[in-house]
Amino acid sequence: MTPKNYISLVSKLEQTQDLSNEEFASLLEADSSSFAEELARRARAVREKYYGKDVYIRGLIEFTNYCRNNCYYCGIRRDNGRAQRYRLTHEEILACCAAGYQLGFRTFVLQGGEDAYYTDDRLTELIRAIKKSHPDCAVTLSVGERERDSYEKLFEAGADRYLLRHETADKAHYESLHPAELSHEHRLQCLRDLKAIGYQVGCGMMTGSPGQTTEHLIKDLRLLQELQPEMVGIGPFIPQHDTPLASCQAGTAGLTLKLLSIIRLLLPQVLLPATTALGTIDPQGREKGLLAGANVLMPNLSPVTVRRKYALYDNKICMGEEAAECIRCLSKRVAAAGYHLVKDRGDHPGFKEIFTSS
Ligand code: SAH
Repeated sequence: MTPKNYISLVSKLEQTQDLSNEEFASLLEADSSSFAEELARRARAVREKYYGKDVYIRGLIEFTNYCRNNCYYCGIRRDNGRAQRYRLTHEEILACCAAGYQLGFRTFVLQGGEDAYYTDDRLTELIRAIKKSHPDCAVTLSVGERERDSYEKLFEAGADRYLLRHETADKAHYESLHPAELSHEHRLQCLRDLKAIGYQVGCGMMTGSPGQTTEHLIKDLRLLQELQPEMVGIGPFIPQHDTPLASCQAGTAGLTLKLLSIIRLLLPQVLLPATTALGTIDPQGREKGLLAGANVLMPNLSPVTVRRKYALYDNKICMGEEAAECIRCLSKRVAAAGYHLVKDRGDHPGFKEIFTSS
């Protein structure tokens, strides 16, 4: 394809939020830096149309690394006997929120392994306590697969959003990354349940995960079109040395950035983080992510003492910095990219009125 043909595909995607599989394949496989730059420029323009120069921040609290699952790529998988397990106390979690609130965070993301200690009762108690202390903040959960009635209870307790990456939309690919006890159907069912309950929902995939093909990525994009998630979390796969996929190659920043831009054009108003994993494989990854259409950052609010233990992948950045230091560094990086951090819940526009009118 000529550069001109690529650009016409980008225009078509921007205008129709759709392409044929062949057209998606040529965008995903295009190997031209001038094209990638043009794609990013278009994605940036769409992002700025809806969000201006604002960047939303989410305070990530990695509150437990106990996990009953055994995902082949993940450093906190059940069979990793070298993972030092920890679980923050209720008080520690509330202290993270209080410190985050002072720093301007208005969304807290509770992320963890699938830890049986966190029954519905314990989680609802925690959500209620956070909402009581910070009624103007959103609570996002990222605690994996649960049953619909559990998601309903957590929603009723005040949880606003739920992140559950689908990891890959291809069943056989999913099965190559997870043991048989985990089912692709159940993961997708969870996402549908979360949507039906009324959460702002985030799905997403790792880019460059072992065995991933262009065809898989096209299926991922089709799933996004079908599900219409409010958020999409994508980041490169990065091997973790104590997992079965330790010797596999990491995904690239180039493919991740290209996908961020395509997703921005596909779902113009989506909340799209420039992830820590992207910042890990490229020192300028998060800035480049913002310039490719991302509009969210998720700095770590977990106590520094546990950060290293939440080692999903190797060489994760921001391990030693206190939250305040982290936010200072980030706001400089964001300003250098021409954007600014805002003190806002940062809801999806489709949900915004619900909160501003109440
Ligand atoms: N237990 C929760 C949270 C999982 S950790 C859940 O199931 O949703 C959050 C995300 O980290 C995962 O969804 C996965 O996409 C990503 N992740 C895990 N291991 C990774 C690795 N080795 N490289 C890059 N991302 C990884």
